[in-house]
Amino acid sequence: MARIPFNKPSLVGREFALLEDALGRGQLSGDGHFTKLCNAEIAELTDASTALLTHSCTAALEMAAILCDLAPGDEVIMPSFTFVSTANAVALRGAVPVFVDIDPDTLNIDPSQVEAAITPKTRAIFAVHYAGFPADMDALADIARAHDLLLVEDAAQALGSTYKGRKAGSLGDMAAFSFHETKNIISGEGGALTVMRPDLIERAEIIREKGTNRSRFLRGQVDKYTWVDIGSSFLPGELVAAFLYGQLEQEPAIRRTRLGLFDHYHAAFADLAARGRVALPRQPKETTGNGHMFYLLMRDIEDRDAFITHLRDHDIIAPFHYVPLHSAPGGRRFGRADHDLPVTDETYARLVRLPLYFTLGDEIDRVIDISRAWLGANA
Ligand SMILES: *Cc1c(COP(=O)(O)O)cnc(C)c1O
Repeated sequence: MARIPFNKPSLVGREFALLEDALGRGQLSGDGHFTKLCNAEIAELTDASTALLTHSCTAALEMAAILCDLAPGDEVIMPSFTFVSTANAVALRGAVPVFVDIDPDTLNIDPSQVEAAITPKTRAIFAVHYAGFPADMDALADIARAHDLLLVEDAAQALGSTYKGRKAGSLGDMAAFSFHETKNIISGEGGALTVMRPDLIERAEIIREKGTNRSRFLRGQVDKYTWVDIGSSFLPGELVAAFLYGQLEQEPAIRRTRLGLFDHYHAAFADLAARGRVALPRQPKETTGNGHMFYLLMRDIEDRDAFITHLRDHDIIAPFHYVPLHSAPGGRRFGRADHDLPVTDETYARLVRLPLYFTLGDEIDRVIDISRAWLGANA
């Protein structure tokens, strides 16, 4: 029987034809025909005022950190339970990631902990939409407004998700998306920054174009472009954009397929969850997800490791994450947590991700059968 990986990137539509089209247009650098199409499509899928393609979500987060005008010593509040790029973007500005705990029901940042972590140096909140389920953005927006903070969504996992009927990517001042091959919509490496604040849009374009006003030049608004601000090369080339556009066109179908797999997993483990053997993802109130990820919460780290080993022995690859940032060497060096973060530590020890990708199909039942057999034998 074939090995079931935890993720498998796949072609879903016109990617090859669009790559050929891009090659025929004579522009392989960024901001050409396909970049414009992707920007418009991402703005549509997120309801954001502006979307700018980047070469990764990491890059989009770095742009967001520059747009927050972070200076050395400034603080940004974020969950410890996230990918390293959320924190690294802040550390690169010389600012301090301040780590807080997550809500045990949603695994998203806990707004009450955010409130408690605010100091005179706090400049922004970076909220992660874990597993594609949006964080409690109304509560976070209230806190941000009361303390004059910027609110950034790390929406790497959340394209197509909604919160109270509003789309991820339009829920804060800015949002960062990922098109890494492990996400729902892919281009190998890729990302986007969406911007909601009109006063930040022009600066976002400048930062993305190496600190120049090239975007205005391309629109014919200035005769020559020149260095006007700090920035870097945050944009992908046209081949990446062409491939990505082929994926973005299929976003509804990809989301539907992944949500079907998510629901199938959920139903298959419901009895074991009811008996308390495992815990399952809980959909936060008034949100819709995008089927990005399905996980089980095991009893403890020994239970988790034994389960992962059992799956691997049956050629099924199931990873765990995230090694908490607040206690990692980088987190201790560049960041801070004001107290223990028990939910973060416990979630890291208990969480196992099951394979979930567009072409998983009936193989999902093999994952379920082999998982259930072990859980039954190790009740
Ligand atoms: C994947 C991911 C990132 C990084 O995305 P890249 O496109 O690989 O840079 C950042 N934050 C979160 C929460 C992610 O899941």
